[in-house]
This record gives sequence, C-alpha cells and structure tokens, in this order.
Amino acid sequence: MAKQRINVLLVEDNPVYSRLIQKLLTRSEHQDFKVSMAGTLESAIERLGVGSFDVVLLDLMLPDSAALDTFYRLRAHDMRTPIIIQSAMDDVGLASKAVEGGAEDYLLKDGISSATLTRSIHYAIERTNARGAEWSSSMLHLAQQQFLKAAYIAGLDPNIRQRLLFPERTQIAALPFKRDGVDQVETVFAYRVQHVLTMGPTKGGLRYHPEVSLGEVAALSMWMTWKCALMKLPFGGAKGGVRVDPNTLSKDELERLTRRYTSEFIGMIGPDKDIPAPDMGTDAQIMAWIMDTYSEHVGYSVPSVVTGKPVVLGGSLGRHEATGRGLAYLVGETCRLIGLDTDRATAVVQGFGNVGMHAATFLSEMGVRIIGISDVSVALHNPNGLPIDKLKDYVRQNRQLFGCPYGEIIPGRDLLELHCDILAPCALQNQITAENSLRINCRIVAEGANGPTTLEADDMLDARGIIVLPDILTNAGGVVVSYFEWVQGLQNLTWPLKEINNRMRDVLTDALARTQRRAQAEKVDLRTAAMIEALSRVGAASHLRGLFP
Ligand code: NAD
Repeated sequence: MAKQRINVLLVEDNPVYSRLIQKLLTRSEHQDFKVSMAGTLESAIERLGVGSFDVVLLDLMLPDSAALDTFYRLRAHDMRTPIIIQSAMDDVGLASKAVEGGAEDYLLKDGISSATLTRSIHYAIERTNARGAEWSSSMLHLAQQQFLKAAYIAGLDPNIRQRLLFPERTQIAALPFKRDGVDQVETVFAYRVQHVLTMGPTKGGLRYHPEVSLGEVAALSMWMTWKCALMKLPFGGAKGGVRVDPNTLSKDELERLTRRYTSEFIGMIGPDKDIPAPDMGTDAQIMAWIMDTYSEHVGYSVPSVVTGKPVVLGGSLGRHEATGRGLAYLVGETCRLIGLDTDRATAVVQGFGNVGMHAATFLSEMGVRIIGISDVSVALHNPNGLPIDKLKDYVRQNRQLFGCPYGEIIPGRDLLELHCDILAPCALQNQITAENSLRINCRIVAEGANGPTTLEADDMLDARGIIVLPDILTNAGGVVVSYFEWVQGLQNLTWPLKEINNRMRDVLTDALARTQRRAQAEKVDLRTAAMIEALSRVGAASHLRGLFP
C-alpha cells in the first residue's frame, strides 16, 4: 500500500524532544512524514514563507517568543496551515487557549505516543480541509460557469437557472471504519449529492480520492445531469465521494469503508431513487459490496441498486470497458467527419485506469498509434507506438506504469503537449488550462475525464481550430451502458455484448449529431452546444412537471 506523504514543520527548541518526535513519526505505517525543524519563532516564520507544509507542530515557549504571543505571531504569517500545540503538563491552560484562538489541537509532551501524534496530525489536516474546501471548489466553479454560459445562450428561464446552479440534495457523513490489525478507528468525510430529481431516479459514480470535497462532488453531479439528458436517459445527475486515498487501504479496509458508506447513505440510494456506479478509485468489487450491504438491509437481493457490478452479480457485459469504448467510437466518427485516417493517426492518453486503459485499447484497435501514456506514477513516450497489451499486463502485475520498459520517461506536464492527432485526457480535472493550452499540439481533444479543460482554455483551443469533444458527450458511454445494466436488471434479462455495443454506438452517435447540429445553428463550440441540448431537455421537463406546491 502506498504511504501518504506529509510535510511537517516542527517548531521546538528542545533537541531531545525534537528527536523523540522525529522517531515517533518514522514509526507510522500509513504516512510518510518529512520533518523540517525550526528552533525559534523567527526561523519558523522564515521557513513557512519559503516551504509548503501540511502541518506545524508548535512549542509555545521559544527563545524569542513566549506563550500565546508565539501562536498569534505565527498565525499572522500563515492563516492556512493547521497548527498543533505541543504542550507541557503545566501549560495545558495556555494550549487550550491557543485552540480557542484557532489552533487545530494540542498534544501533551509527557507520554506522547506515535499513534496519538500521527492521528492528531492526520485529523488536523482533515479538519482544515473540511472547513476550507467544501463548496469552494474550482471544479464547481467550472461546472457553474459552463452552465451559466449555455443557459444564457439558450435563454433558460431564470427561475430554473437559479435552481440548477446548486444540487437539490446533499448529505455529508463523517464516516468511521476500522483499520487492520490495530485497535484504531479512522474517520473520513463522505458525500452523496443529487443534482436534479426531475428526470427520474438519479445516477452517478462514487469516487474515492484524497481531494474529494462537497464542491467537487456537486460539480460531478451537475455534469451527470447534463450527460444523462444529452443521452436522453431517464435519470437526473448524482455523485458520491469519500475523501480518502484508496491506495493506502487494504482490501479489507476498503470493504469496511464501503459497507459503512452504504449504510450511512442507505436512505438516499435505491434502484428507484439513486443508483451509484464506479468512478475514480472505485471498481466492480466496490459495487458488489454496496449491492450486498443494501440487499442485506432490505432482506432480498437488489442488483439494480448499483451499476458497474461484476457480471456474475447481474452486471452488464461491456460495462467495464464502456467509457473507453464510447470515447473511441466518437473519436472514430469525428475522424471520419474531418477526413483523418485512423490508420495514420497518433494519440496521447493521460491516465491508465478504467477510462484511459480502455480508450487506449480501442483507439489502437482502430489503427491509431498511441505515442504517449501516463498514470499517477510516470509518463511514457514512444514515437513508434506503445504496446498497449504489454502495458496492461504490466499494470495488472504492478498496479502502476512505473518501471515499465516500453517507452522513454518524460515529465508528466510534457505529455499533454506532445505533437499528436488525438489527445485524450482520461485522468483528472483541470489539466488543459490557460497556462498550457497554447502548447497543446493536436487536432482533437477527446475528454475521457470529467472537467479536464478550463473555460479559458476552451476558448483558446476553439480559436486555434482544435476540436474539443466535451466530457458530457465523450465519456458518456459508461452511463449509457449503466442504463442498459439497470434496465436488464429490472427486467431480469441479459443482452448479448454485440447488442449492447451497437445500442451504445447508436445513442452516442445520435448525441454527437444533435450536438453538431446545435453547434452550427447557434454558432457555438461543441461543449456549449452539448450543454444547451441537455439543459433544454431538463428545462422542458421542469416546466411540464411544474413546481410543488
Ligand atoms: P481510475 O481510478 O480507474 O483511473 C485513474 C487513472 O488516472 C489512474 O491510471 C491514475 O494513475 C491516473 N492518474 C491520477 N493522477 C494522475 C496524474 N496526475 N497524471 C496522470 N495520470 C494520473 O479512474 P477512471 O474511472 O478511469 O476515471 C478517470 C476519469 O474519468 C475521472 O475524471 C472520472 O470521473 C472520469 N469518468 C470515469 C467513468 C468510468 O466509467 N469509470 C465514466 C465517466 C467519466
């Protein structure tokens, strides 16, 4: 399991205690601590000015400052980084006053253990993130800006516009689960957000990632609404998330976390209410645990409570690879329209998880040469083409691409700027920005990830004639086949793979054609056209249902 990296600034003038703290931190099983030292307040302020720290451990009694003054002077220089006071037994009153004044926690120096120290640090960081970052997310800002632009052009009713700017229902849980082997309970923040309940049940993935916040989940739920509407599926958008790094958890810990997540949100989900699916950091196994927990709760098997589950439990053939396959269909269709021969085309794919791996596989099956691929561990370049099957085998055995011998290692930021015909960002949001968009060197950007391009970058790419196939269209293959899985589950039927792929292709190419017609008619880019197509449908449905009461 990968360890989480945490940068600590230890402000302490007692060398014996400093050594003890360093020793205790090296014993942590789950985190990798890098400790920097400062023996005076002045040097601490200096270090905070130049370094980036996740947490400060602060002794209030220093050679150049004493008592609460130490805390307030440090705080005045850095409003953001969480501070944990290191206190002697005699100074507890002072330490608790510092906590009242905004320090995250205090720890008694006497009898301090590795477990109390590392947990206090972990939760100080978590609480700081929870306070600062829930709604103020750059992703939510992006989703709202995209929506406002399309709503303005489409002339959407202002009452409906206001309603759609934020999700209809949100629930946050501080969710406990047991760690392996030790008598330790971890508490993480978890979310389920339903954006629109007008169109039918809500639908959306579940993301496990250390930077998940309410704002991010809300943005993803909005994009799900537009995606489902654009595909004409009878769903509103939803999304779930847990702020945790799944790479630091064992399989048993993931199972306990997932079952607890399901039970915390059991009132919100259900085959007629809200249907989760895999997203970043989650997979078919996690869907199986959700289905099992839900079924245990109601007393009978309910496969349709999730999609993206294993086929043997009622999952659909083709769902696992549907998002990447759908991306490849749409790229193929676009190449045909602009006269680009896929046998001579090159592609770069960022991300080698579910979406990126399958996108690369299906693009290369279409004859496209994949010259660059990255994951969180490394970026690889090979102008002659990377052997996708061998990369897949390598990742199956090693979890990540790092150490894979088939390409030259290049900096991750350079990957997106490689000269190619098709660039497929299939990992994270916010990858193509105003900063790098002028160096993007391709003909088609096919967005496998959600929100990889900022609004400014969109305009800059458009001005340069680069076609951006937007996320709500390009990565919709997953939700389309999820819909097929839900329908098959409700009817107790299974469709053959060929039928599923053909139906998906029809739904996607129809959405692409409608989007292109809209773009021409309204003289807008494909993203805005896709959004207008989607929100006109949601707007019409809202008017027809009317407002209760
Ligand atoms: P995943 O967890 O299976 O894979 C994510 C991949 O991104 C991994 O290979 C990871 O190593 C890589 N990655 C992480 N940080 C990176 C970085 N800084 N640089 C390069 N690579 C990095 O997730 P996924 O399901 O493939 O989802 C990826 C994106 O696609 C997300 O934005 C998700 O919301 C979106 N999406 C997924 C689906 C689906 O069906 N899984 C459907 C629609 C959209």
